[in-house]
Amino acid sequence: MPMRPWVVRNVPADVCDVCGEAFIDDTIAEELEGLVMEAKQAGTESIVRHYQPLAS
Ligand SMILES: [Zn+2]
Repeated sequence: MPMRPWVVRNVPADVCDVCGEAFIDDTIAEELEGLVMEAKQAGTESIVRHYQPLAS
C-alpha cells in the first residue's frame, strides 16, 4: 500500500522554548486522528483540510 498524503492546514502548534521545535498538543493530535479515520471510512484517497477546533 502506498503512503497517501494526509494534510491538515492551520493546525495550531506549540513551539518548545528550549529547542524551538514545533509540536502538536495531544488533544489536537487526537482530533486529527479522528479526521483521518473519517476520511478513510469515506474511502477518500487523500485529504486537505483546515483544522477547526472543537467548540468548547
Ligand atoms: Zn524542546
